[in-house]
Amino acid sequence: MIEKLEQLQLETLPEMVRFQGRILFLVDDPQLIRRQLQGEDISWPTDLPLRDNISTDEITPAYICYYFDETLGEFPYLGLKAGDEFPVSRGSVKAGGFVCSVSGKRRGKGSSREQSPYAEMCAGIRVVIASNIERIYRENCQNLGILTSTDFSLIDRIASGAEIPLTEFTQGEGAITRDIIEHGGLFRYNVARIQGKVRVPAPSESSRPMTLAEKVVARHWVRDLAKNMVGVPYVAPGDEGFVRTDIRFSHEYVTPMSAIFWEQYVGADVRIADPDSVFFFRDHLTFLDVAMTDERKAQGLLDVALQLKRKQEQFATAQGVKLYGELPRSGRTGAARGSEAICHSKILEQHAQPGHLIIGSDSHTPHAGAIGSIAFGVGTTAIFNSWLTKDVRIRVPPSVLIRVNGRKPENVTAKDFMLQILRHPYVKNGHAIGKIVEYAGEAVTDLSVDERATMTNMAAEVGAFTGIVGPDEAVVEYLRRERGLDPAEARQLISGLYSDDGAEYEEIIELRANELRPLVALPGDPGNGLFIEELGGPVKIDIAYAGSCTGGKKSDMDMYARVFKAALEKGQTVSPDVQCFIQCGSQEVKQYCEQQGYLEVFTAVGAKFIEPSCGACINAGPGVSYDSGTVTISAINRNFPGRSGPGQLYLASPYTTAASAIAGIITAWVSS
Ligand code: SF4
Repeated sequence: MIEKLEQLQLETLPEMVRFQGRILFLVDDPQLIRRQLQGEDISWPTDLPLRDNISTDEITPAYICYYFDETLGEFPYLGLKAGDEFPVSRGSVKAGGFVCSVSGKRRGKGSSREQSPYAEMCAGIRVVIASNIERIYRENCQNLGILTSTDFSLIDRIASGAEIPLTEFTQGEGAITRDIIEHGGLFRYNVARIQGKVRVPAPSESSRPMTLAEKVVARHWVRDLAKNMVGVPYVAPGDEGFVRTDIRFSHEYVTPMSAIFWEQYVGADVRIADPDSVFFFRDHLTFLDVAMTDERKAQGLLDVALQLKRKQEQFATAQGVKLYGELPRSGRTGAARGSEAICHSKILEQHAQPGHLIIGSDSHTPHAGAIGSIAFGVGTTAIFNSWLTKDVRIRVPPSVLIRVNGRKPENVTAKDFMLQILRHPYVKNGHAIGKIVEYAGEAVTDLSVDERATMTNMAAEVGAFTGIVGPDEAVVEYLRRERGLDPAEARQLISGLYSDDGAEYEEIIELRANELRPLVALPGDPGNGLFIEELGGPVKIDIAYAGSCTGGKKSDMDMYARVFKAALEKGQTVSPDVQCFIQCGSQEVKQYCEQQGYLEVFTAVGAKFIEPSCGACINAGPGVSYDSGTVTISAINRNFPGRSGPGQLYLASPYTTAASAIAGIITAWVSS
């Protein structure tokens, strides 16, 4: 493998770059977008209402990600909402001859899907300019070779075809990111690394108090790839380098594209490094045939999507990688039956350890931070490269400490903590983007590991690099109960995993748990949180969805069952106007429901139990909406436009989701 890559001839980008093409301004005005697509150029500067918060779901909606090759260039921005319209049509960006795409705050938020920048690249976009850019999306751009900037003064120079020093796109970046940009992407950079043509700088080694997260990163720091030397005593924010992974995982949306990159650049006959620490998952699309509209089926999208499954299976077999797959379909009809597990649910349940460093192809990879792992989402190119080097690049982010103090009311959950955190101005204005969020405080340590996972999982909605909770006796007990680990061994794993006195935090946010009440996030963004009593009137619901990685854990099932049991005792069932779905995150959680007798409770109350899978959360399973008038209350983690169908989706806690299913309107649960 190394021999082949050692022969590869590499060229870097020139010192001066020039672009030939138009600028596409992504604005709130649908007519203005259409006019640009039809050929009208807009001069800059202007007071255009640039779109903020463009998520990767909008750049490439989930159904577009069934494609995993250059066909993606037909589709960028198909899910982009301007006003109340979706003004971009298939092929229009590519046909428009655009080279640069401009938008406002928090560009590329949401899912870590690299299909988004890859679709933009395949449509001709070479530069992305925005007020600020989300970490994973930005890294994905750099890894693919797309230039990014927050400097709006570049727009005129790009439009006029002027020569621009490449340093304009690398200034402020660390040495490694600079080298990756100059090499035109991560793979070429890694080849240069293997060839000894680039030097990876050493981290600052001066003694300092470190956060828990920094300690884990230091333990995994790659000092010398060739000599397999790992670990340094100290790291500090801003240090850039590579960290050795303990676990690498990917799901069917990402594995196929990574596999194609592998076969194309490395070779189908080459084994990936340490396949035993790699896991693949078939979790996102197992119920797709149930949820996909006839119109999309007629467009052949079901067949396209099936290629993802087949490619992942074929690559897993060829590489000897463990695949958590789809359950065998039932009967002669071949009806879908779901999945063995959602990726990060299974990683936390069975594989992650305190102090591990984990990467996954999903923005909610931080889930495993609940037991003190550093787990973060990366894109397709980073996964593909990690199969080669077993490491991943990192720039040590600053940390933010969020303390939830005091005792919470009984009907307030970790989800409510997160909806409150997401509407905090520091988070809502994007200041936590790319940072490590450490959750602490009495109300956090009082939570179960499952509930802590809701908080670390939703570090993705914060826009953070990752989320972590210091491991304690609750983690020891979790490892004993869930994995049969000897408590002494578990205590050994958590030894030293705490933040030092005097550790550096860029911001400390304090919340008072006793002042919280159940929240919902209004449709459109997880940051749209409101206390339920602030809704201003009854909100009638049509669907209650109780599942996903965030809402499909054992403790979530406890909460649904608690509300439903109490309802049954009062002679109540799910409202006749509401369809209620329960979906676990893994077969293990389903077995727990069976042992606890929950399946009977769910059936008796009128909820429909579905086998584990991502399903409705990603607009691909029972529980999705089919028109804009449908109102859903959901325990999932994000409600960007179109995420779970065209309807209006409110985010809520498991208690609120279940109580609302009974009431037929959004309702906080009150224990009797
Ligand atoms: S359940 Fe939703 S958020 Fe979780 S992994 Fe699946 S698609 Fe992503």
